[in-house]
Amino acid sequence: MSVAENLREVLTELPPRVRLVAVSKFHPNEAIEEAYNAGQRIFGESKVQEMTAKHESLPKDIEWHFIGHLQTNKIKYMAPYVAMIHGIDSYKLLVEVNKQAAKVERTIKCLLQLHIAQEETKFGFSAEECREMLSAGTWKELKNVQICGLMGMASNTDDVEQIDREFCSLNSLFKELKATYFSHSDTFCELSMGMSHDYPQAIAEESTLVRIGSKIFGERDYNI
Ligand SMILES: *Cc1c(COP(=O)(O)O)cnc(C)c1O
Repeated sequence: MSVAENLREVLTELPPRVRLVAVSKFHPNEAIEEAYNAGQRIFGESKVQEMTAKHESLPKDIEWHFIGHLQTNKIKYMAPYVAMIHGIDSYKLLVEVNKQAAKVERTIKCLLQLHIAQEETKFGFSAEECREMLSAGTWKELKNVQICGLMGMASNTDDVEQIDREFCSLNSLFKELKATYFSHSDTFCELSMGMSHDYPQAIAEESTLVRIGSKIFGERDYNI
């Protein structure tokens, strides 16, 4: 099946409240153009350099979402254009994004990444670290970032009950934090969870942003 057909198939499964981030990392501009011509406007990338090169050569109405692990020295390259950063996993990183966003006079939407998987390799705050950061309150002084919600990755496992539990815990934390720290505004409204192999479960747990790559673009070739 073509990229456009895969995309349409995924889109028919998404309820209206769920937006699709088409994860185009490691795929060439031609694949992105095919999805773009089929109507897709939100794309996700995990390397700043690759995303910036694509941003420069592709249509300017694309919303670029950064979903990878972020190094502070790379923020400046995407600060002028990035639509959302999904992987904020420390307060220090948030401060750095704020600083780079201020330089280009933007407010950048950010999601706090939570470590929900039973795997060592995935980045993110623990629930406790996240509560501590928010209750400290100094993030409110960062005027050039907007904390819009949470992001998480479930374990890479065939155990569907474990995946359900992980998404459920992220959803509970999202509701708790929203009620505790963001009840005065509507800006804390995004729950980014669900990938090619687990997005139906994420949607059942009230995800608002699914990040789907291989199901749309096929397997990635890491040797390019
Ligand atoms: C690569 C990636 C995805 C997409 O994964 P697929 O299994 O190809 O859908 C989603 N989220 C993050 C954070 C990723 O790095």
